[in-house]
Amino acid sequence: QHSVFWFRRDLRLTDNAGLYYALKSGLKVLPIFIFDQNILDKLEDKDDARVTFIHQQLRELNTQLQEFGSSIIVKYGTPTQVWENILNTYNVAAVYTNHDYEPYAKERDEKLLTFFAQKNIQFHTYKDQCIFEKSEVVKDDGKPYVVFTPYKRKWLEKLQPYYTKAYPTEKYFENFVNTSKLEIPSLEEMGFTQSKLPFPDKVYQDILKNYSIDRDFPAKEATSQISVHLRFGTISIRELVKKSMDKSEVWLSELIWRDFYFSILWHFPHSAKNSFRPEYDKIKWRNNEHEFKAWCDGKTGYAIVDAGMRQLNQTGFMHNRIRMVVASFLTKHLLIDWRWGEHYFARKLLDFELSSNVGGWQWAAGCGVDAAPYFRIFNPYEQVKKFDKDLRYIKKWVPEFSDPFKYPKPIVDHKVARERCLATYKEALK
Ligand code: FAD
Repeated sequence: QHSVFWFRRDLRLTDNAGLYYALKSGLKVLPIFIFDQNILDKLEDKDDARVTFIHQQLRELNTQLQEFGSSIIVKYGTPTQVWENILNTYNVAAVYTNHDYEPYAKERDEKLLTFFAQKNIQFHTYKDQCIFEKSEVVKDDGKPYVVFTPYKRKWLEKLQPYYTKAYPTEKYFENFVNTSKLEIPSLEEMGFTQSKLPFPDKVYQDILKNYSIDRDFPAKEATSQISVHLRFGTISIRELVKKSMDKSEVWLSELIWRDFYFSILWHFPHSAKNSFRPEYDKIKWRNNEHEFKAWCDGKTGYAIVDAGMRQLNQTGFMHNRIRMVVASFLTKHLLIDWRWGEHYFARKLLDFELSSNVGGWQWAAGCGVDAAPYFRIFNPYEQVKKFDKDLRYIKKWVPEFSDPFKYPKPIVDHKVARERCLATYKEALK
């Protein structure tokens, strides 16, 4: 008999909660990963960089597992199909994995719980991708927080060393099942091609010292770019929180935002599709497709917006300050539904995370938890003056910026757009 550890968004051997309990279970552990067809079929780009990233990490895991004479089983299909197949091949007593809080994942895991129960297989899942989950940080009356600052206060009050302690998986690595090296399905077999994008590395400590001063200046590259690693669990959140506690309170705060948005999506799953504040769904969006395309392509004539969109299109990353600027521009200047922007980010961002993406978009559109009030409309020119005054970021991504023959005129006049936005929002919210 075996235990199985099912890797999902926790692609690492060290400090991994579910893996730790699997390895300690007393049975030999089969490591498994499923390329979920339900998810892959929805991806629009055949060279989707996230698929390449996962593939690369799995090959890395396989190399690490060989050191203990083991290998990862990687399958492509729908989870139920794959599990039928695994259970026909191996004698499995228990399946271990880590929690996943997204609506699709919740539904999948609930179905599998029944499926495994019918076959007398235990299904154990653990908290791993955040410090506090579900209702661990709620108000005294048990209701979820919908404002960040009191959430953060309670989060910090609750934080004990226990919560950031690493799970010492390495003590039990000999408990992986012995097997010869197994092949991982190629990207081509799954209908994908290799992405050419370079992936950010995992070095984050160097930026912590000046983070609070430099983080808002996109040209300085003063943020960690650790987000893709957090997304796929190639680094442990416990390690990051522990390091940030004595090095950068401001950076810690950002990590708490991440937990906050997980918790919002958990408590309010409807907010993945609809505005958290329902009255905002009455807004009459203009949804002009040509303007949307200009925004996607970085051709709005607003250089800070265009620079951000080109950074996104070319690298799969965009600086946080600029994410706020482009999101505000799309929803407020162009009056395009925040869902269109959210969808585009979901397609392009390496670090796409449903909870933070929806949270960020609704914050910008004014319709989310703890959102910017709708009448605060970012002035793109002021944003340049404040955060890219020597135009370094802009010139990097929009090289034709200074050439009036090559660079387009603004797609909309700032003042006109601002008035139009105020009137439209007011009408919906009256
Ligand atoms: P750092 O500044 O080094 O911060 C460290 C980590 O803290 C990040 O990696 C991230 O995990 C977390 N973090 C930082 N800021 C936020 C925040 N505002 N909300 C939640 N977590 C945060 N982040 C995503 O991970 N995935 C998304 O899909 C995503 N979509 C966004 C959409 C919009 C419209 C906006 C305004 C923000 C979005 N963010 C998203 C949040 C933020 O922009 C990114 O986490 C950050 O830019 C990642 O860069 P970094 O790793 O260098 O961050």
